[in-house]
Amino acid sequence: MEKTVTLAHGAGGKQTNELIDQVFKAHFANPELTSDDAAVLPVEAGKIAFTTDGFIVSPQEFPGGNIGKLSICGTVNDLSCMGAKPKYLSCAFVIEEGYSMEKLEKIAAAMEETAAKAGVKIVAGDTKVAGRGQVDGVFITTTGIGVIQEGAQTSGFLAKPGDAIIVSGDVGRHGCTILLAREDFGIEAEVTSDCAPLWECVEAMFDVTKDIHVIRDATRGGVGTVLYEIAEQSQVGIRLMQDQIPVQDAVKGVCGMLGLEPLYLACEGRLVIFAPKEKAEGIVEALRKLEPSKDAAIIGEVTEEMPGRVVVTTPIGAQTLLPPPGGELLPRIC
Ligand code: MG
Repeated sequence: MEKTVTLAHGAGGKQTNELIDQVFKAHFANPELTSDDAAVLPVEAGKIAFTTDGFIVSPQEFPGGNIGKLSICGTVNDLSCMGAKPKYLSCAFVIEEGYSMEKLEKIAAAMEETAAKAGVKIVAGDTKVAGRGQVDGVFITTTGIGVIQEGAQTSGFLAKPGDAIIVSGDVGRHGCTILLAREDFGIEAEVTSDCAPLWECVEAMFDVTKDIHVIRDATRGGVGTVLYEIAEQSQVGIRLMQDQIPVQDAVKGVCGMLGLEPLYLACEGRLVIFAPKEKAEGIVEALRKLEPSKDAAIIGEVTEEMPGRVVVTTPIGAQTLLPPPGGELLPRIC
């Protein structure tokens, strides 16, 4: 019989310890992860970045990852965007009674692998079991701490006219993958989530220059939403060159069939970067040496005109306004 998570696993007794030892500690073991009430961590000089995110993606497993990998990438990437080297994470699980132990184990294994890749340690955790139907499978919340690198200062308020806009790879793959995995549309296409931890990409950019104004990971609302957010925060205009925006053919195909704009499909391994024009080529060159950002490209520039707007230049030279983000984004994408 398949082993599943029971309410007893969440009751705080012997079974809880078994679950924690066999599934979580088996994968997350490190000297800072103890059975005490809180992790004890050294304090470094300077500034830390601190962030948290909940993950409820459906389905929990998809081509290119699962909710466990996603829960590490999401928090690691938010820290990275602030120029902070990710150091420590906590993770809290809410598991539905009856959830497969084997699936949970796979999720923990993906978290272990991704955390190792990102150079972070999981130092605190919590496990709760909810009754059948009270959650859908498993929900994970991760919280992370990172150390802001000396000389780094990035914020959505710092975009300036004359900045080049870079994306670290092709857009829209995670959203497209989830859409197809739900099988609501009866479309078959080979698309894999771009889900990846991106600190190495930020580090590679910092090796070129610390003069980077904005770094933001394009998650739920995609690159389009990020661009509108930054145009608003910095009160600048944004001009994109449509033929420079990298989109996989399969994603283009799906978007064409469903009438979707790839710029509004979620990514889970893509950075949007604003940096002075003269630094942009060097940044792209450094990014292209790394697997998660091998298709990095300059897609546009920041302008003084039309503050708060994103204008797209089409291949034939026409100017169109990118429609501002709508309300009906795909739910439970991350
Ligand atoms: Mg973010």
